[in-house]
Amino acid sequence: MKDLGQILVIGAGPTGLGVATRLTELGYPTVRVLESRGAVGGLAASHVDPAGFTWDIGGHVHHSHYTRFDELLDRVLPGGWFEHQRVSRIRMSDRWIPFPFQLNLHRLEPADRDLCLARLEEAADRPLPQSATFAEWIRSVFGDGIAELFLIPYNEKVWGYPLERLGTGWMGDRVARPDLEAIRAAIREDRDLDTWGPNRTFRFPRTGGTGSLWSAVAERLPDEVLELGATVKRIDLNARQVRLADGRRLSWDRLVSSMPLDRLCRRCDGLPDRALETSAQLVSSAVHILGVGLRGKPPESLRHTSWMYFPGSNSPYYRVTVFSNYSPSHVPDATCWSLMAEVCETNWRPVDPATLRSWTLRALEEDGLTTEESEVVSFWHHRESFGYPTPFVGRDAVLQELLPELERHEVYSRGRFGAWKYEVSNQDHCFMQGVELVDRWMDLGEEVTIHQPSVVNRGPNR
Ligand SMILES: Cc1cc2nc3c(=O)[nH]c(=O)nc-3n(C[C@H](O)[C@H](O)[C@H](O)COP(=O)(O)OP(=O)(O)OC[C@H]3O[C@@H](n4cnc5c(N)ncnc54)[C@H](O)[C@@H]3O)c2cc1C
Repeated sequence: MKDLGQILVIGAGPTGLGVATRLTELGYPTVRVLESRGAVGGLAASHVDPAGFTWDIGGHVHHSHYTRFDELLDRVLPGGWFEHQRVSRIRMSDRWIPFPFQLNLHRLEPADRDLCLARLEEAADRPLPQSATFAEWIRSVFGDGIAELFLIPYNEKVWGYPLERLGTGWMGDRVARPDLEAIRAAIREDRDLDTWGPNRTFRFPRTGGTGSLWSAVAERLPDEVLELGATVKRIDLNARQVRLADGRRLSWDRLVSSMPLDRLCRRCDGLPDRALETSAQLVSSAVHILGVGLRGKPPESLRHTSWMYFPGSNSPYYRVTVFSNYSPSHVPDATCWSLMAEVCETNWRPVDPATLRSWTLRALEEDGLTTEESEVVSFWHHRESFGYPTPFVGRDAVLQELLPELERHEVYSRGRFGAWKYEVSNQDHCFMQGVELVDRWMDLGEEVTIHQPSVVNRGPNR
């Protein structure tokens, strides 16, 4: 085996755990993971509130592109998995449209339905513009009807960023391309088309939420590898040393960082000024998670629902998950159920935390998810300042400057905010970014995930 010297890893989320797991599998002796929080998992951790409800940081759907990743999780997960059918819908004024919206136009008001279909047909006759922004892409693929009714207001709510300044390269298989014939047939026959897409079935850990996966992965590491409560404050690129919040200095030969790339650059001594300026161009959004614990029975309409999308301006949230439907272990006892709402916050879409509770509870009632009689027994509010890495126009040029500059100093920035590529920022992608980096160092493989997202997203991959 190659001797790579001392390897330090910043962060024990899926990326850092991917690096450590792979090095441990290969029997590599000198790796250390430094994690500032008191637990592993990062954004994929789970939390139990004082009333006994379990929450994830947003609705995590476990849909992997890699058999290697699946096999590992199957081996380590103590309680095994539930298999779920996706039941997902979109709230449109006073009605529900099954997901994906564009395939279920027959559920709209007749005037909206006819307008959406007519604009979709016109769009199908036009060639796609070459270098479109996300806003242009939506209009040219789906037509102005679907764009204005759903895709534009919904995406503005998710990204909190002008859609004219988002790129298109990140989308891959995330947005359903319209099949005109199928849509016309569904309208004619008044029939739902709700089985599209890569996550129409998904699995979820039986107990402990998404975070249980990462605790189980971490438990397999040798004791000396992982250090919790260790925050990296400065990185000296020339001396190849990190300084921790407690004053200790640790040396490295190779450093993997899964902390946000802009923050990493600000903490580096020895990085050229130009790179620091470039890193300030990176755009991201914060996410608020609002966990509503309830006693009583959920409405019949939610009994099998997985999650729902909300383009309307009456609510702060863009998505709500019926988290108690994922596992009974998410609630303290069988008399309870739970809803988990996600809210985006950016400079373009500021959020007043003081009003979030009352606004959320009022909107849940307006949207028909709760009633006046619903008994709220718990309200969990959690904010992550780095929630979504925004795929802004010009992102790739920024990454092409920063990542190689850091690598010249043997610093490898990987993961959801380390590599800043939304299209490869799910748990499986991040874990595999870590694994593939080690394989590249050891001449055992290439880093496909970070460099060729569309290839891995076609999956399945080994
Ligand atoms: C709202 C939301 C919904 C999501 N939905 C899904 C989904 O449906 N499916 C899916 O697979 N994935 C989903 N994800 C993504 C998943 O959570 C991420 O893939 C994953 O957690 C990112 O892993 P990471 O290791 O790159 O980063 P993180 O999880 O952010 O981990 C980075 C770690 O580094 C630590 N750290 C940062 N700075 C320092 C420092 N200076 N010193 C020491 N430690 C530091 C942090 O504390 C953190 O633990 C979602 C994420 C969010 C936010």
